[in-house]
Amino acid sequence: MFKANENYLKLPGDYLFSTIAAKIEAYGAAHPDKAANIVRLGIGDVTQPLAPSIVRALHDAVDEMADAATFRGYAPDLGYDFLRQAIVDNDFTPRGADVRPDEVFVSDGAKSDSANIQEIFSADARIAVCDPVYPVYVDSNVMAGRTGAYSQETGLWSNVTYMPCTQENGFVADLPDSDAGISIIYLCFPNNPTGAVIDRARLQAWVDYANEHGAVIVYDAAYEAYITDPALPHSIYECDGARSCAVEIRSFSKNAGFTGTRLGYTVVPCDLRDANGVAMRDLWARRHGTKFNGAPYIVQRAGEAVYSEQGRSETGEQIRFYMENARIILEGLRAAGYEVSGGVNAPYIWLKTPDGTTSWEFFDQLLESVQVVGTPGSGFGPSGEGYFRLTAFGSRESALEAVERIKAL
Ligand SMILES: *Cc1c(COP(=O)(O)O)cnc(C)c1O
Repeated sequence: MFKANENYLKLPGDYLFSTIAAKIEAYGAAHPDKAANIVRLGIGDVTQPLAPSIVRALHDAVDEMADAATFRGYAPDLGYDFLRQAIVDNDFTPRGADVRPDEVFVSDGAKSDSANIQEIFSADARIAVCDPVYPVYVDSNVMAGRTGAYSQETGLWSNVTYMPCTQENGFVADLPDSDAGISIIYLCFPNNPTGAVIDRARLQAWVDYANEHGAVIVYDAAYEAYITDPALPHSIYECDGARSCAVEIRSFSKNAGFTGTRLGYTVVPCDLRDANGVAMRDLWARRHGTKFNGAPYIVQRAGEAVYSEQGRSETGEQIRFYMENARIILEGLRAAGYEVSGGVNAPYIWLKTPDGTTSWEFFDQLLESVQVVGTPGSGFGPSGEGYFRLTAFGSRESALEAVERIKAL
């Protein structure tokens, strides 16, 4: 009889979002009059439609696919040149970051890339993650057998180094000890779930640590477009030495509304080499060639349109819309006496639950008393306990209404 992959059996269920859904459903069943009135600030999905210039590029590309003279089949392994060149010219060169088109790998999104990148590293590599954390980094390593067992009691995996992100360190993890034996460090800035950002000096310190200790940084910059402070780095390649220690992952989901359209990319520099001089770029190319057949041509054309003058202006407008929601939530809750952070260079607001209530107690209280839904911080890791995540991705009305209701709590 065949057996399932035992690594998958170690994974606890998708506790966080399934529990949230179950609680909302139970509440709705018990209070049908109030169920329609729930304000949701829990979702991590955008709500604004694709911008007109992007939709036009999609339509044009569909027409090309309908004509034998311009039809396209399989895309090149790394993605189309027009998109990889636009990426380099817009996301890196203007920021002084040295990234070349043959180091850019176009994909169907940052979730798959951030889950898959671990495959090119040794099976016994030790990973380090921030706590709280986007769950994909850990779960993908669990599936690959790189972790020990999960403890229900502590909410932590063995053989994983957790780096607490707390009020004390401004929700930016401290550098691990020199003898921590870490090979892969996952960082995400601007951060999901805390909304924290990293300044250039601190990011440089991570790059220096990685180069010194022979570690690689997987840098998830999915929220880079939300940075408003001109002093903050958008790419890890703005730091000296990052080409020899970092991979960067980007997404078109949060900056241009591609959550349902699917497009992202990963940069693996030629200078990133392992202990034996193996070029990780070539391994990622090999993996890409074997396991992936490319993002759709029409979607890559849509991605190119994001970088057009009109595309940049339209998507910039959408981001400003979400960030006005963030400002309303952040300032409204602060004025009401809550301790809140994030929400300035990121679409997430990180709220400290009042009077020592747990994240889940606060969730229940908000749902039952004022019908507002957010995400319990403890669902992202033990250091998230006592915090609550609110997102700016809803409508203007939902942001305004949520603030009024939470104030009335
Ligand atoms: C939303 C998000 C992504 C983007 O995922 P896609 O697969 O590109 O939609 C990546 N990383 C983090 C931390 C995210 O929150």
